[in-house]
Amino acid sequence: MSDEWDVIVVGAGTAGIPTAIFAGQRGANVLLIDADNRIGGTLHWSTGQMTAAGTKLQKKLGIVDDPEWHIDDCQRISGGELHPTLGRLAIENAADSFDWLTDNGLEPAPGLDMPVAGWGHEPHRTRRYAWGENGGISVLEVMEPLLDHEIGRGTVTLSLETKMTKILTENGAVVGIEVEARDGTKAEVHGKNVVLTTGGYAANPELWKELTPQYPLRSYCNPYSRGEGLIAAREIGARVNGGEKFLCSFAAVMQDPDDPLSARGGVKLNPSFRPPWEIFVNRAGKRFVREDHPSVDHREHALLEQDGMEMFIVFDEGIRQNSPHFHAEIEREHAVKLFDTHPSYFKADTIAELAGKMGVDAASLEASITSYNAAVEAGKDAEFGRESLPRPIDTGPYLAIHAVGFTVLSPGGLDLDDDLRVVDNDGKPIPNLYASGEVLGKARLSGKTYLSGMSLLPAVTFGRLLGQKLLKWEGAREAAE
Ligand SMILES: Cc1cc2nc3c(=O)[nH]c(=O)nc-3n(C[C@H](O)[C@H](O)[C@H](O)COP(=O)(O)OP(=O)(O)OC[C@H]3O[C@@H](n4cnc5c(N)ncnc54)[C@H](O)[C@@H]3O)c2cc1C
Repeated sequence: MSDEWDVIVVGAGTAGIPTAIFAGQRGANVLLIDADNRIGGTLHWSTGQMTAAGTKLQKKLGIVDDPEWHIDDCQRISGGELHPTLGRLAIENAADSFDWLTDNGLEPAPGLDMPVAGWGHEPHRTRRYAWGENGGISVLEVMEPLLDHEIGRGTVTLSLETKMTKILTENGAVVGIEVEARDGTKAEVHGKNVVLTTGGYAANPELWKELTPQYPLRSYCNPYSRGEGLIAAREIGARVNGGEKFLCSFAAVMQDPDDPLSARGGVKLNPSFRPPWEIFVNRAGKRFVREDHPSVDHREHALLEQDGMEMFIVFDEGIRQNSPHFHAEIEREHAVKLFDTHPSYFKADTIAELAGKMGVDAASLEASITSYNAAVEAGKDAEFGRESLPRPIDTGPYLAIHAVGFTVLSPGGLDLDDDLRVVDNDGKPIPNLYASGEVLGKARLSGKTYLSGMSLLPAVTFGRLLGQKLLKWEGAREAAE
């Protein structure tokens, strides 16, 4: 191993891989480490959706777009919460990153007429949202051979099952990291630049409680998203903020009520994919949102405000049998068995008995169902304005599924300057320390909402920019434009 690396990249995931590739292409001597026994990080989980304005894909289809319009859309959707300079940096460079992926083999998933304006989050005003058939894996499949090429050339050394445990400093400047191998052996490695691409903290309940105490953690994410880069940087004085800017996703079922990392989607609650036949009630047994409200953001904020971010999907045997099936991955005949076995599924002969099993007030639940049934009969939901009113809830057995607001991302993270240098609590850059990806916190590029594709592609973009031009070392070549 080298005595001093030009670049040490901590985390061989979405942001770390392009950092290493582009630094390697510029001739750096790069050490790329990962705690896991494989590269890819969250790309193994991610849906892989990316947003970019001015891409070759758009041009081929005659879609006229501009980064300024993309910024404008992000500010409109986030209520002005897109970071003014980092957001601009991500968006102005997004098309080059997307084109880099498509030039190297990424194909938009067939059958969906990509790019699309929206899918699952608030729609953009134009078609700029696309992803590969295998989600995040499609991105990894493009980047892995490019990384292998740099490893083959000897510019990048990859060390798996190697965890960073500490950042080393001398006179306030970062000079390397301490690493721990799977067998517990520790070593120090030195480098001119250290780049933290360790991902978020949605798999770390203790850190979540500290940084995002307002909201309970229920997540579906990479188990290595433990915030270790954030913790190590904080230990040397880095500024961490944004943890309170959380918005839950709508909604998941806990597979194990005692395990905060066991949230799973699996039920189709988005009205644009399946108009609801069920009602949603909170812990008080009351409806709290128009179930078919066209805005995802509206429904997510409504759930965020409920006690414990909890809700119940309430329906009956008539709806179960007659509505379009609403489990995403389980056949109807298998899904019915969950009501006998799953801790979040409830079944009873009467509404009062169902309420008892759910732990909600029976009179409230009965009143909510009676009032909803009257709305169905009248063909008008005066209370919430719901339009999907296919049939009443009046045929036992009565059914309920406990669901929760959940997350795949963590909101808070390291603060950076415009050259992607990690800053301290006074806003001054910590010499030689850089970061990219979810370690910045999802909120920095999204605020308290979800901006389509504004996590994955910015991670790739910032990694690319770091490798291509922002990192400095003796002998670095200028990037070929
Ligand atoms: C289910 C799901 C769906 C998603 N869908 C989308 C989407 O459609 N669009 C979008 O924009 N975003 C999406 N996201 C978010 C996005 O994918 C992530 O924010 C992004 O991939 C994170 O990239 P990263 O490089 O910061 O982290 P990662 O890709 O997770 O990489 C971090 C790496 O660091 C390693 N590591 C951690 N700690 C250490 C340590 N101490 N030492 C060494 N290595 C360490 C990890 O093992 C990991 O390999 C989704 C996320 C999930 C979970």
